[in-house]
Amino acid sequence: MTEPLSFELSRPAVDPPRLPEADVDGPGPADVLPHDMLRDRPPGLPRLSEPEIMRHYSRLASLNYSISENFYPLGSCTMKYNPVLNEQAAALPGFAGLHPYQDEETVQGALELMWRLERALCAVVGVERATLQPAAGAHGEWTALRMIAAFHHSREENRTEVLVPDSAHGTNPASAALSGFHVVEVKSGPDGRISLADLESKLSPRTAALMLTNPNTLGLFEREILDIAEMVHATGALLYYDGANLNAFMGICRPGDMGFDAVHMNLHKTFTTPHGGGGPGAGPVGVKADLVPFLPTPTVERTNGHLELDYKHPQSIGRVRSFYGNFGMLVRAYTYILAMGGDGLSQASQDAVLSANYLRKLVEGDLEMPHAGPCMHEFVASAHHLTTEHGVRALDVAKALLDRHFYAPTVYFPLVVPEAIMVEPTETESKETLDSFARAIKEIAAEARTDPQSLHAEPKTLPVGRLDEVAAARKINAYLVGQSEDPVLRWKAPGEGAPKEAC
Ligand SMILES: *Cc1c(COP(=O)(O)O)cnc(C)c1O
Repeated sequence: MTEPLSFELSRPAVDPPRLPEADVDGPGPADVLPHDMLRDRPPGLPRLSEPEIMRHYSRLASLNYSISENFYPLGSCTMKYNPVLNEQAAALPGFAGLHPYQDEETVQGALELMWRLERALCAVVGVERATLQPAAGAHGEWTALRMIAAFHHSREENRTEVLVPDSAHGTNPASAALSGFHVVEVKSGPDGRISLADLESKLSPRTAALMLTNPNTLGLFEREILDIAEMVHATGALLYYDGANLNAFMGICRPGDMGFDAVHMNLHKTFTTPHGGGGPGAGPVGVKADLVPFLPTPTVERTNGHLELDYKHPQSIGRVRSFYGNFGMLVRAYTYILAMGGDGLSQASQDAVLSANYLRKLVEGDLEMPHAGPCMHEFVASAHHLTTEHGVRALDVAKALLDRHFYAPTVYFPLVVPEAIMVEPTETESKETLDSFARAIKEIAAEARTDPQSLHAEPKTLPVGRLDEVAAARKINAYLVGQSEDPVLRWKAPGEGAPKEAC
């Protein structure tokens, strides 16, 4: 069930691949690069025939788990099915063949798509304008915080703190810290919602913004959001919405109407573009009128049907991404929005909430539910009772699901719930899939009671079983400071020295 590296499969006798002659005129690399930077030998690439390469990658692909294969109940990360129609639109030669340096006049269609997508996203979240540049949700948060900092700066106010609830996604405090803010934590109350008393005590003239998501990371709606917005604005701070997952409310309610000033949206979650192996994603940021002057440039503007890239925004925070964002993702998201229509998007949200509540009900006899329902598009359960009674942890439940052909839900997050298991089924799953997932949870809970030891040994059917995470963490530290050559993170040709540049 494992697959050797292509380097290990390599056979020197195989004919090299036939590549077309370079068709670029002018000097070649050897003419322009400094001489001491040129290779004296060709790179040691693997040599395989075309069928061997095809089979190697097909075997690797079959070891992969993906949303096109099975259910992916990853809480907080909306893993929806990625429609094939999106791929067809993105592959149209008029989009796929564009070059970012092309003249504006020759890319009017692409600019129009960006202009329309911006309007559609603004309509969904209730804001004035948006930038499509950020390449991920975390990048969107950072971009918005740069705009918020520029806003306060323009009013000659020195605001150094960003408030973040204890249930927030880890990227929120990370983005705030990376933008140079001091992070101040706001506590949740016993009902899993933000404590207004604690918020009151943390708000001050130093507060630049409160970062919040609603429904929050526990899948609960912050009912006092209008009071929260009033409290934040009364101190002169802004309200930031983490809109990575808009699945609970598209077409039903809007962060802009709740009083939020800025919001990022993950096209790779809510709007069905692929998550990929870490990218490319897209994390557009929408803002209310007060923040519009600070949007990254260029913006896409339309006058009398003619579209242009506009760089004339003196207060802009500047460009945050090369060129114009991950354009292929913008095409996919726009295709999804057009295919769904406004009614379709609100139906998707209603179905997502229904799926989550249905599944929550099915598993509530087997897992603890620390907060009262109903939930929104996801729910957070706990395996705490299995841990205290049988020594079975959330991690064991997650690993046992892998043997039952399900991807593991998010575990140990949010941190405020011990042994958390966070499940988000999404609207793209059928009732049959949700039923079979609930059956798997029931089976695992029964096994925890009768044979907890066997759960510690799962997964048993995958190429890799239990990893020794503690040893890995310890060794990687030794590796990074150069005290160990273990673990082996990079293939080395026989006779090649230690890869000094690897870190
Ligand atoms: C996924 C997620 C993010 C970060 O998005 P990335 O694209 O992974 O950077 C931020 N907040 C929440 C609530 C999320 O679920």
